[in-house]
Amino acid sequence: MDAVDGNAIGGLLIDVFGAEMSAAGSTCATCGASRPVAELVVYRRGPGTVVRCRTCGSVLMVFVTRHGVTGVDLAGLASLGEPGSALSGRRNQGQGGTNEYAR
Ligand SMILES: [Zn+2]
Repeated sequence: MDAVDGNAIGGLLIDVFGAEMSAAGSTCATCGASRPVAELVVYRRGPGTVVRCRTCGSVLMVFVTRHGVTGVDLAGLASLGEPGSALSGRRNQGQGGTNEYAR
């Protein structure tokens, strides 16, 4: 598979989170590595997009778009938010499950 980096999904992240997220910090729930979303490893393969930790290779985020609705699974992330903040990133009511955002 051809891997790209988090910059490649900037538009997708805006669609899902409603904000520019590529500069936001992410923390891997498996190894604890923190880095900007833009530096994560992204595999794009229809119909889903898989985002992996560059340090340990764990899956951090999975996006699946089907019929115009994007579902996102953030279960692999310990945190997601602005660099240096304690924001959990769970703006919506998800508890490690899948949130769906209808357009
Ligand atoms: Zn990791």
